[in-house]
Amino acid sequence: MNQQLIEKIVGEVLGQLEKAEALPPNDLIPIAVSARHVHLSLNHVEALFGKGYELTVRTELSQPGQFASNETVVIAGPKGSIERVRILGPARSMTQAEISWTDAMKLGVNPPIRESGDIEGSEAITIIGPKGSLFLEQGLIIAQAHIHMSPKDAARFGVQNGEYVTVETDGIRPIAYRQVKIRVSERYRLEMHIDTDEANASLITKGAFGHLVKFQGNLNVQQETSASVTKSKVDIPYIYPKKLLSRDDVKELNMKEIILEKGTIITALARDTARELGISVSFRK
Ligand SMILES: [Zn+2]
Repeated sequence: MNQQLIEKIVGEVLGQLEKAEALPPNDLIPIAVSARHVHLSLNHVEALFGKGYELTVRTELSQPGQFASNETVVIAGPKGSIERVRILGPARSMTQAEISWTDAMKLGVNPPIRESGDIEGSEAITIIGPKGSLFLEQGLIIAQAHIHMSPKDAARFGVQNGEYVTVETDGIRPIAYRQVKIRVSERYRLEMHIDTDEANASLITKGAFGHLVKFQGNLNVQQETSASVTKSKVDIPYIYPKKLLSRDDVKELNMKEIILEKGTIITALARDTARELGISVSFRK
């Protein structure tokens, strides 16, 4: 292995270690992907499956009391239909179907992005079961991305019910989900819910996590901090003597310009931090 390659690997490993240190597990939000599904009222369960029919539990969902049922339905719009759409139980007061924009194009419909339960004036949908079918004037939505959390978690993150936050993902296609609604209840377990289109945008798979970024408040504090660092930065080039430049080194040095000796390893996080703080880092010619 040549020297350059070794340095590159060492740099990457150190970068990963820095990252692991930088992200305490309690700033993470578990992400769960909601595939298309329907919620049915008791009346509509009977209309689709027959009088007296009760949904049967296939799997318990992460939110307490919620389950995916063994039963499925077909949903249809003017341009097409989708089979085997899972019913989530228990039965609710209102029937509602949640689909992705990809599904909407297949059905030929134009549902609004809404919070679950808010179906007033939403899109029409046809639901077909083994014993009957329903045409609903409204009830079809694309679910607004949201985070379920307990009051305890809300206090920990410094957020309130109904507030919107941003959640960023890492990984091979990192993205930021904006306008993610916070939903607080004693009954909730900490989890972010996104649809399949949103998940695919960041190549999210099972067990993924996001980082909660709060726009009001938190960000201002961050900006103030970096501004104050910028102000007091020392204005002469600094020749860095060591073999490795880490993020902490960049922060501690507090220089406008850092010049590295040939062969010095700079971690990816150090490079990012320098860029954020407006510090130029270059190698000695
Ligand atoms: Zn949810």
